[in-house]
Amino acid sequence: MALMRSMLLAASQNTWLRENAVKLPFVRRSVSRFMPGETLDAALSAAQGLLQKKIGTVFTHLGENVADRDEAYKVADHYLEVLDRIHQVNLPTEISVKLTQLGLDLSPDFCFENLERIIQREKRNATVWVDMEASNYVDVTLDIYKRALKRHSNVGICLQAYLYRTKNDLVDLMPLRPSIRLVKGAYKESAAIAFPNKAAVDENYFTLATETLRAAAVGNCGRAAFGTHDVLLIRRIGDFVARQGMAKGELEVQMLYGIQRAEQERLAQEGCRSIVLVAYGTYWYPWFVRRLAERPANVWFLLKNAFAS
Ligand SMILES: Cc1cc2nc3c(=O)[nH]c(=O)nc-3n(C[C@H](O)[C@H](O)[C@H](O)COP(=O)(O)OP(=O)(O)OC[C@H]3O[C@@H](n4cnc5c(N)ncnc54)[C@H](O)[C@@H]3O)c2cc1C
Repeated sequence: MALMRSMLLAASQNTWLRENAVKLPFVRRSVSRFMPGETLDAALSAAQGLLQKKIGTVFTHLGENVADRDEAYKVADHYLEVLDRIHQVNLPTEISVKLTQLGLDLSPDFCFENLERIIQREKRNATVWVDMEASNYVDVTLDIYKRALKRHSNVGICLQAYLYRTKNDLVDLMPLRPSIRLVKGAYKESAAIAFPNKAAVDENYFTLATETLRAAAVGNCGRAAFGTHDVLLIRRIGDFVARQGMAKGELEVQMLYGIQRAEQERLAQEGCRSIVLVAYGTYWYPWFVRRLAERPANVWFLLKNAFAS
């Protein structure tokens, strides 16, 4: 399993595959399980459907490592349009952005300006989430996040439980009253900086989750959100919330579109905050291959589609 994960994460960075695999009909059919479509309209329509089930949404326009200034500027412009559309149709949808899509590789200052343009357009005080990318971006992402948070309270950051450093990053962020989306982590990282086995990642996730919730209970954390599909872990965190005497509505779980749909609905019905991250756009290859790496069964699903075609 670890070997397959490694191979898939390496494949997610392969330019030839990115340019060619996306043209194959069975690959396109497989990705449709994880995204409602490539357009913003498709995402908006999925959000309307989820809202009827009391499930909130976060949109992300797929893309990363933009190397051209105009293109990065246009990505930020696109997010301004997304926010305008969300406001027009009165959806409680939030957005989540990748800093390398906003020009981080070109200049952190330019990237910050793009991020700030987006945050300023979010007039409802809803959260603008910042994704966490591979480990070489963690320092600069946290710097930009802190800079943004000092000027705007409605910005949240993703932290990855597989990194040893995250415990300290969390402590460092708390005086600023951050909003945290805790995930396990989706990139290929070495054992020198990340827990190499799943059980250790899960345990660290739970520890970090309890620390985040304790901080939220005393007002030191703006929002504590758990980005995971791990049902056992969600139950454990739910039990902790109950033991702390916190209301069910204070448990916020975010999942990806199309994964653990029954659990998304169960959480919403029980009064927890259930949110689905809806990804859309044409640049889905690396993101899709990271989803394959997370669950070997997804690779069989892809192969089944290949043989069915
Ligand atoms: C809302 C959200 C935002 C995220 N943002 C980031 C980010 O900014 N940076 C980052 O590094 N990572 C991000 N991730 C990805 C995350 O790091 C994990 O790679 C991913 O969530 C899988 O881990 P898990 O917590 O679901 O647990 P796992 O232990 O991997 O999975 C638990 C169970 O969930 C189900 N499951 C998990 N993944 C899949 C899948 N792809 N397909 C089908 N079933 C699956 C399976 O039943 C599995 O047994 C995000 C995830 C979510 C949900």
